[in-house]
Amino acid sequence: MQAAVLEGVQKLFIKQKEIPRCKAGEVLLQVKACSICRTDLKCYELGHRDLKLPRVLGHEIAGIVVETGSGVDKYKKGDRVQVSPGISCGHCEFCLQGRDNLCRRLKIMGFNYDGGFAEYLLVPAEAVLSGVLNMIPPHLSYEEASMTEPLACSLNMQEALKITSSDTVLIFGAGRLGILNALLARNSGAKKIFVVEPLERRLEQAEKYGFAYLFNPAKSCLYREIMAITNNRGVDVVIPCCPAAEAFNSGLHLLAAGGRFGFFSGLLPGDKMKIDLNLVHYKELTMFGAYGCTSAHNKQALSLLASGALNVKKLLSQVISLEEVEKGLKMIKTLSQLSVVVSF
Ligand SMILES: [Zn+2]
Ligand SMILES: [Zn+2]
Repeated sequence: MQAAVLEGVQKLFIKQKEIPRCKAGEVLLQVKACSICRTDLKCYELGHRDLKLPRVLGHEIAGIVVETGSGVDKYKKGDRVQVSPGISCGHCEFCLQGRDNLCRRLKIMGFNYDGGFAEYLLVPAEAVLSGVLNMIPPHLSYEEASMTEPLACSLNMQEALKITSSDTVLIFGAGRLGILNALLARNSGAKKIFVVEPLERRLEQAEKYGFAYLFNPAKSCLYREIMAITNNRGVDVVIPCCPAAEAFNSGLHLLAAGGRFGFFSGLLPGDKMKIDLNLVHYKELTMFGAYGCTSAHNKQALSLLASGALNVKKLLSQVISLEEVEKGLKMIKTLSQLSVVVSF
């Protein structure tokens, strides 16, 4: 089989590998679609302390079962499945609370195990057992299903923020995660949704999704505009979906008293921020962090896609082949595409 193997920092090669065979408890998938995430780009460009190379990256995976090991009775050949990439231990304090994304022994497909940038993927027995495989309904394409994981991460954020119809929500960044968060806020009935994005073509994408309050901070004074629309009150919820430090700072200024701040997007290493944290004190703001997603968020995200409550078709801006995966990583880096999916 062909696989895109990361052998060193910025050393990615398409290699011929043996198709893995199933041992007891394992499931072999033929990968059908795997979306590229900024995390893949980070691993490719900078490596990672815990990433052991060589490794096949890719954790936003959808595929079809081609073989099952002995003892596997929940899945059979021909099942279309989406992979929830986190493999948790199931018995640490966080797993027992249902917060398996914080599991002390968490392992991730495409990081600790080989991932989806390959024609076949062996799902380890512990992963099969912990329920990482979710059935894709027949009407949902593999490419759409590969968007489940980023949607699940967004759900994790929004669950903490508890957005209701009385909330005005401000989202920084109209990339894939920004739009997913905006769509979820809309599903929660948010009164007004503001999307801030300096790239015009991304604002146009957001417009295609019907978002009316779009702002380019390079073209107008964001603070003045938001304050004018909200009668000098500010917004109830801010979610930076981009690693820009300015988003964090102006987000805190734009929150109304009692507002909620979603710390969804990590900051770039070495980013020094001058943030006035006294704003948290004076305005009684609440900060919520969100990191990855639980297996429950994953299932919930897939059912949102399956029911049509959330449609990601317009987010699938670029589909590429496995040979083009390095090109795809560069598209993510230069923000030239809203999303890039490797399709097989
Ligand atoms: Zn991801
Ligand atoms: Zn655990």
